[in-house]
Amino acid sequence: MVPQSVSSSFLDSVAADLTALDTAGLRRRLRVVAGGRGPEVELEGRRVLNLSSNNYLGLASDPLLGVPEPSADGVGSAASRLIAGTAASHQSLETDLADWLGVEAALLFNSGYQANVGAVSALVGPDDAVFSDELNHASLIDGCRLSRARVFVYRHNDPDDLAHQLRSCPPVRRRLVLTESLFSMDGDLANVASLTAIAHAHDAAILVDEAHAYGALGPAGRGIAADLAVDFRVGTFGKAFGTFGAFFAGPRVAIEWVLNRARSFVFTTALPMPLVDQTRRALAIVRGSEGDARRAALARAMDVFHVELSAAGFRLPPPSPIIPLRVKGGDPASVMALSADLLAEGLFAQGIRPPTVPPGTARLRLSLMATHTPEQLRSAAQTLARHRARFT
Ligand SMILES: *Cc1c(COP(=O)(O)O)cnc(C)c1O
Repeated sequence: MVPQSVSSSFLDSVAADLTALDTAGLRRRLRVVAGGRGPEVELEGRRVLNLSSNNYLGLASDPLLGVPEPSADGVGSAASRLIAGTAASHQSLETDLADWLGVEAALLFNSGYQANVGAVSALVGPDDAVFSDELNHASLIDGCRLSRARVFVYRHNDPDDLAHQLRSCPPVRRRLVLTESLFSMDGDLANVASLTAIAHAHDAAILVDEAHAYGALGPAGRGIAADLAVDFRVGTFGKAFGTFGAFFAGPRVAIEWVLNRARSFVFTTALPMPLVDQTRRALAIVRGSEGDARRAALARAMDVFHVELSAAGFRLPPPSPIIPLRVKGGDPASVMALSADLLAEGLFAQGIRPPTVPPGTARLRLSLMATHTPEQLRSAAQTLARHRARFT
């Protein structure tokens, strides 16, 4: 061990904060998931049904997707995109993405988190205003904070409240509306058509984060805003695509601005080329007939699970790849105890606590894959039904 370089009073203070987190039931711990990322995984030495990953099409550990293969350009990009990091691989994937989405251009980011933080803070600044759904992902919230734009938070998926807030905003240089499409912790769909109409009627642009929808929903997996006139789109490869990385897409002038000004793009090393090439293969699968077949299988899984859980007395939003089940009391301790009990019965259903969700709304957040079988889902619903009284 190297000598402690930090003063012990500093570490004592951090330890006290950690204890407070523990006492509040909010301390999180890392757990190793082994045996792939399919419907069955190993967790803490036992084989369990996986209802906790975002592997919607089942591609993440599927032999069909394969593994990253050597690239003629090597592995590491060795520089940021703007210095010496851009390879043909990066540009090919960007071209393919723009073609798939029918937009002028796309720009890779190293993760969806970085795409949102970078794009939002580049698109709006201190002279501007940003309008954000109250349930938006942390990366959109952090983008708002970093932008130093004036922030208006509108009620969840409420076009009327958005309109009200746009009207109440004093004159600014630019206005930007931010929404997810398939909401990550609630599994509901934004009313993107109405939000877009309201935004445009008030001279605002709209950015839609389809992290959970791209690949999984819409024609050729192009998301729920596929055919809508939204201004900017954000997607990730870490979910339905089964790889890693992300993108921002839209009009070329916006791409040019963002690649000049998004600090999470400018000041970071470009994605490794073999991973980018693998994501290109993933995109080909997503847009092709295999993608269609998997989306159909995912839709069947959504229906089966919805029917089974409804029959067991759960009150649910419409069928979705993401199913939130609120626990009675909505407190962290209840949800974590329930999650542990389910794990002991072979069900991996992660408990979700603040700050990921608002205080008092702790929940199990279940997610489905194209590769879950109806039998697996029926058995999961039966297990959940045995604990029905612990849910709202
Ligand atoms: C997961 C997620 C992100 C972040 O994407 P990563 O590639 O995992 O960093 C951004 N927005 C939403 C809505 C997400 O759910």
